[in-house]
Amino acid sequence: MNIIFIAPPAAGKGTYSTLLKEKYGFTHISAGELLRSEMNSNTEIGKKITEIVNNGLMIDDNLMKELIKSKLNTIDLNIPFMLDGYPRKLNQAEDYEEILSNLGLEVDKVLFINIDKETGLKRILGRLTCPVCKKNYNKLTGYAIPQEENLCDDCKVELISRKDDTKESYEKRYNTYMTETKKVIEYFRNKGKLIEIDGSKNPDDIIKVIESILGVLND
Ligand SMILES: [Zn+2]
Repeated sequence: MNIIFIAPPAAGKGTYSTLLKEKYGFTHISAGELLRSEMNSNTEIGKKITEIVNNGLMIDDNLMKELIKSKLNTIDLNIPFMLDGYPRKLNQAEDYEEILSNLGLEVDKVLFINIDKETGLKRILGRLTCPVCKKNYNKLTGYAIPQEENLCDDCKVELISRKDDTKESYEKRYNTYMTETKKVIEYFRNKGKLIEIDGSKNPDDIIKVIESILGVLND
């Protein structure tokens, strides 16, 4: 089985991809990590990517296609895998289908964790972390509220918020993501492959929904 994982900023991508990886044994292919590891390895492709990124330009579709293709050649395709951060555009979706088709596969499901901008913003702006045990809290979403205001439940030390999480930077990231990805979502919806999950719910409930979907898919 293979899944494309689509999650806007603050939709909880890390939580749910970790679940798929650790509990269900999925191979996790992250487009962002692929790019970073190429850049670090200083290969010809890596140097090219570094130059593009340093100039603030977009990685072109053919380059992404090559990276994804090479990665798929290194993994065991009999083990379920999920792709995250790709495809982001309609022509990338077509590229990916072509890659899979050459491997005798097709996209099985597209898991879309849908979150509206306002909910995402509350998650970002309300986020608090314990500096000692790193446990996460949120003062705005209605769940994961600390028992005592601004104190870690376990360590009783003052919680800290991240200063780089501003309304403007979040809205910009969210809008860019959704504008790009909307067409990919519609493309797979029309093919009957999209599974849309309400990402504004409590993460524990979302995990249950994902688990029941996986149960059905595995039957
Ligand atoms: Zn703590």
